[in-house]
Amino acid sequence: MVNDVFGRPLGSLRLSVTDRCNMRCGYCMPEESYTWLPKASLLSFEELDRLAGIFLGLGAAKIRLTGGEPLLRHDLPTLVRMLAARPSLGDLALTTNGILLEQHAAALKEAGLRRVTVSLDTLRPDRMLAFARSNRHGDVLKGIAAAGRAGLGPVKLNSVIIRGFNDDEVLDLLSFGREHGHELRYIEYMDVGGATRWRKEEVVPRAELLGRVAARFGTVEPLPDPGSPSAPAERFRLPDGTVFGIIASVTAPFCSSCDRSRVTADGTWFSCLYAEQGMDLREPLRLGRSDAEIADLLTQAWQRRSDRGAELRLGTPDRGALYQIAGLRADPRREMHTRGG
Ligand code: SF4
Repeated sequence: MVNDVFGRPLGSLRLSVTDRCNMRCGYCMPEESYTWLPKASLLSFEELDRLAGIFLGLGAAKIRLTGGEPLLRHDLPTLVRMLAARPSLGDLALTTNGILLEQHAAALKEAGLRRVTVSLDTLRPDRMLAFARSNRHGDVLKGIAAAGRAGLGPVKLNSVIIRGFNDDEVLDLLSFGREHGHELRYIEYMDVGGATRWRKEEVVPRAELLGRVAARFGTVEPLPDPGSPSAPAERFRLPDGTVFGIIASVTAPFCSSCDRSRVTADGTWFSCLYAEQGMDLREPLRLGRSDAEIADLLTQAWQRRSDRGAELRLGTPDRGALYQIAGLRADPRREMHTRGG
């Protein structure tokens, strides 16, 4: 097990398989055009699997496949099968916008995927069309249902709550999760990556979310999560047993227990969602460096890690979006859709 300077282990890895997405959510990809990673730079399944093996060898036990939209990567179940065959892997999950999930859920499960998290920010198709420029709301709902049927549960639903966009759906989204047996997680609107229009007034804070849920559904009981102390979501239970979560990255950051790092689809490794610079792992992979040599690079970098990006942002006066569009165009790896959110 490798620990950083604050004693946080290198525990979980978010592996991005593409920077492309078939939605344009306002908090992630609001622009008309983007600079994409060159195709030749994308890691092959063999390279991704090899990297995963090196991270697992350093003590990581959880891998989440991300994008962009990971289901846009052709033949993703093949990668899932390769990763799932690694005996030291404790958990293998996928975050998706759900549009293509119905057609892939059974194959992903059969290949060894354990769980999915689906983004669902609104229950209103017209709102999704306006906000995310997608008319595929029905497909997202079908994808969520298919994931449940395929046994990719408990299915988690991620809802980024933005004042003036969907804060009037806070309770309806939770009711949807309750009715369908899925765990809803509210996510505070973050200022990172492509959120170039972020304003702190649009963040609906954890305390307000809890107050509104309690006023409608009754006493909200915090749940300890001893199995996963580094998980970003705080979990809560309603009197009827419904469990939901809040990821309060803005008002109550959880950097002190953060064991997550991210690899972009072109093999750049970031030790924090807010990190300015990443480490290129593609070159050592392609130049024939051994697994032990790459493990050594990762170990040395993780032992120097002192990131606590969200906590530092909390103390930023007159806080606005972290990047403006010119900064993102200068380095597309700063984008959340490239970094894997
Ligand atoms: S801001 Fe960085 S250190 Fe803090 S929780 Fe997010 S990734 Fe981890």
